[in-house]
Amino acid sequence: MISMSSKALLELSISDFLISSEKVAHVQSGNNAEHALLVLTKTGYSSIPVLDMKYRFIGLLSTGKIIESILGLERIEYEKLENIKVDEVMDQDVAYLKVTDSFQRALDLVINHAFLCVVDEEDTFVGILTRRVILKQLKKYVYLQA
Ligand code: AMP
Repeated sequence: MISMSSKALLELSISDFLISSEKVAHVQSGNNAEHALLVLTKTGYSSIPVLDMKYRFIGLLSTGKIIESILGLERIEYEKLENIKVDEVMDQDVAYLKVTDSFQRALDLVINHAFLCVVDEEDTFVGILTRRVILKQLKKYVYLQA
């Protein structure tokens, strides 16, 4: 059996482990919060990427942020959803990966994030890397060493 050193594992390129962009649910800049809430609810994900018109990654949108934006004093003001743009409620200050990044950087970041968006050298969104995929690779490695 060929075993891998931990250095080799940490130096692996993340590009082999991505869920590619065409399989990732996303919303686009300019979409309204009602559409976004529909996408989030139908897919069952609590957070999805926001892309601009050129498919560049510009932020993350969560159900929590949308609900927060329509919280009134006594009720949730659902009627406001259609007039709120995803750009107003998305998180822009989020960690992400470059497609050339190493497994080590991904490992460091997935400790605090269930998934990370991945971009190419032009910031075009190429997919996501999930904590689940990273853990699977780590498990394979640990079992091989045992
Ligand atoms: P999972 O590893 O499947 O539990 O996914 C972790 C998180 O990654 C989910 O909660 C979503 O926010 C995100 N995610 C996973 N797969 C997709 C996908 N196909 N489209 C959009 N977001 C995804």
